[in-house]
Amino acid sequence: MKDLARIVTFLFALAPSALFVVAAQAQTAPKPTADERIQRLVSSISEERLQSIVVKLASFGTRNTLSDTTSPTRGIGAARQWIFDELKRSSPKLQVSFDTYQIAPQGRIPRTVELRNVIAILPGRTDRRIYITGHYDSVNLGPGVSAALATAAPATPEFDGNANAPGADDDASGVALTMELARVFANSGINFDATMVFACWAGEEQGLIGSSADAQKLAAEKAVVEAMLSNDIVGGIRGGDGVIDAATVRVYSVGPDDSMSRALARYIQWAAGVYVPSQRVRLMAREDRFGRGSDHSSFTTQGYPAVVFRESKENLARQHSADDTPDGVNAAYLTQNTRINGGAAASLALAPPAPKVIGDRGQPLIARDPSGYDASLRWADSPAAVAYRVYWRDASSIDWQHDQIVANVTHFVLQGVSIDDFVFGVAAIGPDGHESLISAYVSPERPVPPVKFGQ
Ligand SMILES: [Zn+2]
Repeated sequence: MKDLARIVTFLFALAPSALFVVAAQAQTAPKPTADERIQRLVSSISEERLQSIVVKLASFGTRNTLSDTTSPTRGIGAARQWIFDELKRSSPKLQVSFDTYQIAPQGRIPRTVELRNVIAILPGRTDRRIYITGHYDSVNLGPGVSAALATAAPATPEFDGNANAPGADDDASGVALTMELARVFANSGINFDATMVFACWAGEEQGLIGSSADAQKLAAEKAVVEAMLSNDIVGGIRGGDGVIDAATVRVYSVGPDDSMSRALARYIQWAAGVYVPSQRVRLMAREDRFGRGSDHSSFTTQGYPAVVFRESKENLARQHSADDTPDGVNAAYLTQNTRINGGAAASLALAPPAPKVIGDRGQPLIARDPSGYDASLRWADSPAAVAYRVYWRDASSIDWQHDQIVANVTHFVLQGVSIDDFVFGVAAIGPDGHESLISAYVSPERPVPPVKFGQ
């Protein structure tokens, strides 16, 4: 908090007039570091609880979306009721509900099925939403159809919905992470600005059905979703090739390079460095692994920023089979990944929303004035921001290289920094120093119309 306080002091010491035009070589301000409240939240994550949730979810035998819904002990009906009850028990502050849909036969859904996501909402001061998610359904594709061959798997495999599919790593690990963060966020005593949503999806294995239904509904309602963190297969450390990696996790994000999904991935890497320095986030500049997918794509399809966390070393032979059992999940590793999600989401939920850097017609609010060779940056005011931080980098660089805090203004000029040679972005800073995602000024594509030829 010391550094956060220093930034705020630094800001108020600057006269607004001095901030309007500042030479590019001006000193870089100190970066925010840890907030003690978030450190406490992160350290209250329980490894034992994560482990016990994985074991419990695997004990339902299968959680296939097409499995039995009447047994109190086996199948997806028993599993979703247990998740619902457990979330409710975690805190009276959580608004827990089934998000229910009747799904018509389509793709890998052979008959009409009632699908239920389990959602826990922790209301914040505003309606803007941050999602932490995993999928609780599981699948057994039958002998010989391992995930290693997933890209070659038929679109409508004839599998038995009631066959054993413990789905411990895929994806009880992500659901345990989501449920544990619901508990620690709700019990943290922190009054978050953003509304936190903890979502356990169904139908992922049939084609992201549950998350897609929810994301479609959110877009139709014009809900503001600032970030969606999907966690799918996040508990294993030993790859099928025998290589062990317990020190890193992969975060995939869809491009282009300055998409808000990629800004979210960079933010997560920054938060991991602050709150979980013993773990390293590897940024994967692609939507997901080759030929494979997860629920984050349901959100990016609707224009919402989203990423997916994946363990660094997967055992593909155990996925989508009866062998995906709890002994393949390392609770200490899963705890580290839960901490990274918690640190990043809590920082974002305490920060103001990212400033908008595009105009009504979709044009980036960037120009070369006043000299014709300067970077003139404009943005829309972000509610509750007390200052902004401008970022820039050489256009050949993949990550931000320079930054500078500016006062509570919506226009800033970097003299003599060419908008043709550099990429620019801006983030909003809240009263206690928390910073938003960085909105980048992206040069729009310039499609060339087809040439019309004469006779
Ligand atoms: Zn999965």
